[in-house]
Amino acid sequence: MENHILGFHHVTAIANNAQRNFDFYTHVLGLRLVKKTVNFDDPSTYHLYYGNEEGTPGTILTFFPWEGIGPGKNGVGMATEIGYSVPRDSLDNWAGRLREFGVSIDEPAERFGERCLPFVDPDGLSLSFVVSKTTDDRPAWETADVKQDIATRGLRSVTLTLQKIDRTAKVLTDIFGYSLLAQEGNRYRFMTDAIPNASIVDLLEEPKGQLGRNAAGTNHHIAFRVANEAVQMEYHETILRKGFQITPKINRDYFFSLYFREPGGVLFEIATDNPGFTVDEPLEKLGESLRLPGQHEALRTNLESTLPALK
Ligand code: ZN
Repeated sequence: MENHILGFHHVTAIANNAQRNFDFYTHVLGLRLVKKTVNFDDPSTYHLYYGNEEGTPGTILTFFPWEGIGPGKNGVGMATEIGYSVPRDSLDNWAGRLREFGVSIDEPAERFGERCLPFVDPDGLSLSFVVSKTTDDRPAWETADVKQDIATRGLRSVTLTLQKIDRTAKVLTDIFGYSLLAQEGNRYRFMTDAIPNASIVDLLEEPKGQLGRNAAGTNHHIAFRVANEAVQMEYHETILRKGFQITPKINRDYFFSLYFREPGGVLFEIATDNPGFTVDEPLEKLGESLRLPGQHEALRTNLESTLPALK
């Protein structure tokens, strides 16, 4: 399975205020900030990475907090919900905790036999806590308030809302090695068995749905995971051969990336496990200080005084 897509690597979304984003994900949800860096393509903005202790691929949610950006709108051509795996029997505790912090939550629902609790983050990003039918033994990061009994294990699923699902489905099945697991109404569940978790993509077909608008509270891209650059470059060739435009390999310091837009409109990335988040700071100190890529190191003094300090 080494040479397959190994589920998700990370998911990236857009936020408005960095401090509010940091408080919500580290304090309310109990994730670890595993990297505090800048958007390599727009270094005046943070790029914040939240995950488990090591920032294991498949546990990572990242944000570009663009202060002052208006609210976006979920719609077709977008990833419209991010599902986190949580322990069995934790949903009631989570509902209580989210309410305590004034988080807007939806009625618990059941999808494909799995209980889930949908809610939104302070920018309106749609998330869901899901109790996986299969065992999820990924180690969780613990905080003072969020212990093992409720802590998230990492990503479980991502929902893409599309006008038509067929061409996106073909990317998943013919290129990424996913298969259609089940259908409930207009929701089609695709899964890879290359990895036990972070393995589900739901395609929601809405032929009359409105286009989404990318701004705060919406998804920016979905990164799929590969073991290394050799596998990544095989995908580069396959995707080109299927007639898509795809970027060359880009060095993101913590992984290498390729980007292409799937036919339904969602930006897909293929990211490597190597080298990982401990490449420029030790495990115990992940996320504590501002890390800059070499090309932006000259901006450090300026960035340290203009980027908001996160407390
Ligand atoms: Zn990415």
